[in-house]
Amino acid sequence: MNAMPALPAPQRRRRLSLHTRMLIGFLAGALAGMATYALAGQAPWVDMVIGYVSQPLGELFLRLLFMLVVPLVFSALVLGVVEIGDPRALGRVGLKTLLWILAVTGIAVAIGLLLANVFQPGRGVPAEVGQQLLAQSSGQAGQIAAQREALSIRDMLLGIVPRNPVRAAADGNLLAVMFVALAFGIAATVTRSEGTRTFVGTMQGIYDISLRLIGWVIELAPVAVAALLYTLTARLGWDVLLQLTRYIGVVLGALALQTFVVLPLLVWGLGRMRPGRFFRGAETALLTAFSTSSSSATLPTTLRAAEQRLGVSRKVSRFVCTLGATANMNGTALYEGVTVLFLAQFFGVELGLLQQISVLLICVLGGIGAAGVPGGSLPVLAMILGMFGIPPQGIGLVLGIDRILDMSRTTLNVAGDLAAAVVIDRLEGNHTDTRKRAVAD
Ligand code: ASP
Repeated sequence: MNAMPALPAPQRRRRLSLHTRMLIGFLAGALAGMATYALAGQAPWVDMVIGYVSQPLGELFLRLLFMLVVPLVFSALVLGVVEIGDPRALGRVGLKTLLWILAVTGIAVAIGLLLANVFQPGRGVPAEVGQQLLAQSSGQAGQIAAQREALSIRDMLLGIVPRNPVRAAADGNLLAVMFVALAFGIAATVTRSEGTRTFVGTMQGIYDISLRLIGWVIELAPVAVAALLYTLTARLGWDVLLQLTRYIGVVLGALALQTFVVLPLLVWGLGRMRPGRFFRGAETALLTAFSTSSSSATLPTTLRAAEQRLGVSRKVSRFVCTLGATANMNGTALYEGVTVLFLAQFFGVELGLLQQISVLLICVLGGIGAAGVPGGSLPVLAMILGMFGIPPQGIGLVLGIDRILDMSRTTLNVAGDLAAAVVIDRLEGNHTDTRKRAVAD
């Protein structure tokens, strides 16, 4: 007689989906921060709230995410390689991933360069404003320019093979960690022994544990996102934003074209997935990317989104998203391209067509080489500037607004990883019916 008991009331109330809660946190943090900036400005209590509440909360969330990156990258890549199994299939997926990275990042930089040529953002900045911005951030710019002295394309490439894998992991050199993981994965695939089976089982354990942990950590995301956004907007130099509107407009416009036109076309045309579905599935990862400015910190969420919400097969998502978090950076490469042209225009350095083509190629490499951490592209950018005879200290001009651009380019970086996973999965012939999958946030 009794009908099914209704769900207890508290449960019904709890289940706003995670991305809705994150979105609410995002808007609440941003609005509260802007209101604080407008109403209280530099009042001492603002420093207290930021220093003791919003900054530590955001930092805690970032630390929890970063804590999971090394175990996750290593285990996911080993498992990705082992699951793909056959070395020929591995070669095929690897080649597709590489081609995707080069081609799609190339398109991104081309869009950026095109817009920078059309709108000439560097010619719009009055010299005195430029000098003032340079003077304000000269210390930090000098540090970054010094870091680039230690960088060269040759060393960057050599650095992919670590002398010591433990040190590479400790230094957060993820390209090197990935190299070791690929090597271990390949060797484990071709060596069938009791020992390798145990090793793979252990990797599976580490992977499962990491994903479970991220499931818990991500529950903090709505509050953490509010805290991160509050810290940013309550302190942002809005005046600087106004002075560089044309440059910001070009970067954001180009990022938007790549995110909302190029990627959806590829996902739709090659991945056979409707763009609306893609963005709904990617939403949590994109919000995490925007709030943390770090592809690496977002990786756990990216993997969850790919597997649980976009229905990408595990073997492809583990391989493509993990590699992609460090090497597939559409947004970063695009940003580097626009900024090189912007500063060239500002300093009156003429870059002809051939030179701009080399800027494009080098920025594609720059996207691969930049670390997936906040501001990870700045030392690489300084190196590229030096290569084209543009003063690397010029980076000081854009440092004041870097955070907001970093958030935006990181969002594209992560969208690019997810698009790559969807398309490569489809090209590999895996057609998971994602509608049937439980979407568990
Ligand atoms: N923050 C970016 C990322 O993690 C890298 C950068 O462009 O600075 O993807």
